[in-house]
Amino acid sequence: MNEKIEKSDREWRDTLTPEQYRITRQKGTEPAFTGKYADHHADGVYNCVCCGAPLFDSKDKYDSGSGWPSFTRPIDGGRVDSGADLSHGMRRTEVTCAACDAHLGHVFDDGPGPEGARFCINSAALEFDTGEIGE
Ligand code: FE
Repeated sequence: MNEKIEKSDREWRDTLTPEQYRITRQKGTEPAFTGKYADHHADGVYNCVCCGAPLFDSKDKYDSGSGWPSFTRPIDGGRVDSGADLSHGMRRTEVTCAACDAHLGHVFDDGPGPEGARFCINSAALEFDTGEIGE
């Protein structure tokens, strides 16, 4: 049912900016406090920059002080995958878009919500949408 969106490396390079490509397709990280959504507080939905899938809701966004957009949970019905990431000598949990495998960021267990999760996401992996007609 939920078909994967698969594109060639060439296609991703053609549709993404170099920074978006580096982060989402090469598991990169933007420097803290530099991303366009780190200090962004409008109401709306954050979609996957690669495939447009809705991933996070602004109501779950909070200021973690980390310098990256931070969320307590994925959006209702959203499809965010996670898996072990042992790169860079750390034991972390990587977060990806389930639809297209875009690298989004990592999830940590020091969040403020009841689930205790802190989704630490790169702005460059997201495209904000207010959901208003004409936007
Ligand atoms: Fe995606």
